Amino acid sequence: MSAPLLSIVDVKKNYGAVAALDGVSLDVGAGEFFALLGPSGCGKTTLMRCIAGFETPDSGRLTLKGEDLSGVPPYRRPVNMMFQSYALFPHLDVFENVAFGLRRKGESKDVLQARVSELLEMTQLASFGARRINELSGGQRQRVALARALAPRPALLLLDEPLGALDRKLREETQFQLKEIQRKTQTSFVIVTHDQDEALALADRIAVMRAGKVEQIAAPEEIYERPATRFVAGFVGETNFIEGVITRDGAAFFETAFGRLPREGCALPDGARATLSVRPERIGVSRNGAGVAGRVEDFVFRGEYTLLRVRVAPDVALRVGAYEGRFAIGDEVTLAIAPDAGVLFAEAR
Ligand code: ATP
Repeated sequence: MSAPLLSIVDVKKNYGAVAALDGVSLDVGAGEFFALLGPSGCGKTTLMRCIAGFETPDSGRLTLKGEDLSGVPPYRRPVNMMFQSYALFPHLDVFENVAFGLRRKGESKDVLQARVSELLEMTQLASFGARRINELSGGQRQRVALARALAPRPALLLLDEPLGALDRKLREETQFQLKEIQRKTQTSFVIVTHDQDEALALADRIAVMRAGKVEQIAAPEEIYERPATRFVAGFVGETNFIEGVITRDGAAFFETAFGRLPREGCALPDGARATLSVRPERIGVSRNGAGVAGRVEDFVFRGEYTLLRVRVAPDVALRVGAYEGRFAIGDEVTLAIAPDAGVLFAEAR
């Protein structure tokens, strides 16, 4: 990879006894769409505020285009931020909202006119220039905020829950627009979200955070298919945790209620307790095949598949994606796991 645009090395930030950032390191590439994902309080906003310059880390280093950012005030950083509340100016029209950053930079009238028009076009607001902010829908406001943030051509745009204020249907449409605009402008985007679907849908790479630390940085597919920790497996996507014991008998096996699953390359010692994370779609369900017996306890229709909750033991219920057949509560079924399915974690529950 070429030199990253933004480089964060071992950044720490405490608020009293709370370690909001506990040694965070990550890089964001030029033109990359990067997501900070994690539960409430994990430090996402604090990290973003450190990048913007609203907050100073206690230790660690941030560099942008190779320049050390310590001591560089927010307005001197080639970074812009789009707030979840949008923070638009209600007394200005759409054009003037988008022009705001350019006027502050002292751009000429021609440059300003051309750049604002270009952005209104890109955000499908070309005919809305003279509108007041309070005459716009939620989705239109969101696009004005995006156009305004992009107008001064920041190298990096920070977006705090950019779709958080929109309803579900609009969110999905807006995801496509956001991705397209990011691609067209080739600006690096760093979005903060606690919504795993949004991060998976939008980002080139995701950093999953927990309690001030980064648990994994990877592309969406990798985060989903090969979660690095049990926390990531449980936080991103739906999964089942199946307990068992490693046995080494020449090769390594994972002994579970589902039988003996071969685990080639497993480094855990004989007798180690471990947990297997298996996605619902990797567990097969049938009415009378071989496998572990269970009873359908509940189901949710999800369009392409039906998500079943199947009780296999008094204290174990699994989520299973049924792509064929119809199931009812109380049905007796059998479940099977492909031998290579899932990811094994050394920790048992
Ligand atoms: P959310 O998704 O709820 O916005 P977050 O992941 O963005 O959460 P942060 O806002 O970065 O989390 O907060 C991380 C931790 O630091 C939390 O425990 C929070 O209470 C604490 N914190 C953040 N800002 C301050 C502050 N100014 N003073 C004291 N504690 C703070």
